[in-house]
Amino acid sequence: MKTVSIFGVTGSIGQSTVKVLNQHKNLFAVDAITAGANVESLAKLAIQLNAKYAVIADASKFETLKSLLAGHNIELDCGEDGLIRAATRKVDISMAAIVGYAGLKAALTSLKYAKRIALANKECLVAAGALFMAEAKKYNCQILPVDSEHSAMFQCLEGNNKSQLEKILLTASGGPFRTHSMGEMQHITPAQALNHPNWDMGAKITIDSATLMNKGNEFIEAFHLFPVTADQIQVVVHKQSIIHSMVQYHDGSILAQLGTHEMGTAISYALGYPDRLTLDFERLDLFKIARLDFEKADEKRFKCLYLAKQSVQMGGMCGAVLNAANELAVAAFLAEKISFLAIADICEQTINIAQSKNIIGNATSLDDICATDHQARQIANSLI
Ligand code: NAD
Ligand code: MG
Repeated sequence: MKTVSIFGVTGSIGQSTVKVLNQHKNLFAVDAITAGANVESLAKLAIQLNAKYAVIADASKFETLKSLLAGHNIELDCGEDGLIRAATRKVDISMAAIVGYAGLKAALTSLKYAKRIALANKECLVAAGALFMAEAKKYNCQILPVDSEHSAMFQCLEGNNKSQLEKILLTASGGPFRTHSMGEMQHITPAQALNHPNWDMGAKITIDSATLMNKGNEFIEAFHLFPVTADQIQVVVHKQSIIHSMVQYHDGSILAQLGTHEMGTAISYALGYPDRLTLDFERLDLFKIARLDFEKADEKRFKCLYLAKQSVQMGGMCGAVLNAANELAVAAFLAEKISFLAIADICEQTINIAQSKNIIGNATSLDDICATDHQARQIANSLI
């Protein structure tokens, strides 16, 4: 039996992970599980999964957690420190599925104590990619991507010589506003942006998918995970999201990984690797799909994608600044404080101001990233 901890168990990826684990109870035993604020759901899952350790990040909910799990033999903890303590438990696999920068410290800690990280939290790599990858190497922790695109790339690279890789083709659905003009995008409401055509995900990544910041984040993610330069990653808008991504080799051959919009496949690959776990999810029906379309991404209408690519070129802690600004801008858009198009403007202006204040240097430690993240949030806040 492999031991698995799930950070962010109550979220979209967390729940999909539970579904996969429930189909393979003979292979995995759950160790720690964590949630942000949804204490009822955490308590239910702790009992259902027979977890050993449960953490509620929102410390004000700790008493509720204690009373909900009284009489059960489960160690309980709370707060950000509680997340870190959960990450110091030795496990075979740690599923990093907290959303946003809030998941960074726990994931960095897991790199030291887990044999493998199943990485859903892409903000770790956007904000701290170089540090994160260096720590993974230092502690010999295997990183298995859970993001469907990166799982596809990983699968297409398996059994091939990575030095013969020519480029990565990162597919993008284009989001719900793929064909909208700038004028039409001016009055987009949170409800419209939360309605993604292909995927059912948490609110933050759904908004990121609508602005194409998600694709920008995935561009940065691919840059850190695989041996390529930024010029070797090409975004391909493929509205059906059936091809989850492709890689091209020196001989011109392109390998693709295809599947339905079920995240269970990427999750189970990250858990079971190198084995493929049997899954009883719906299979892809190519006759129903019938056709696959491809087009270029428009970085003028979707400036977030452009900014993310730029941040890779700029290097240093530009990703941390971009991520901080985007997290605040997305929250402000969801709270109806700013318009949809203002998300990209706030990201762009935050980077410009951060650059003029000279806070985008190289990070030597997590402290550097925390300081830059903090300053970038202050800048973005004042802009909002
Ligand atoms: P979600 O919002 O559905 O779930 C987030 C989880 O994190 C929840 O368990 C929540 O309680 C917890 N959380 C939130 N804030 C927290 C905090 N401050 N401290 C501790 N825990 C906190 O998000 P999701 O859609 O499951 O996405 C999780 C991560 O996976 C994101 O980084 C996202 O980009 C990535 N991802 C998601 C999908 C998807 O299909 N949902 C696909 C690819 C990548
Ligand atoms: Mg993805």
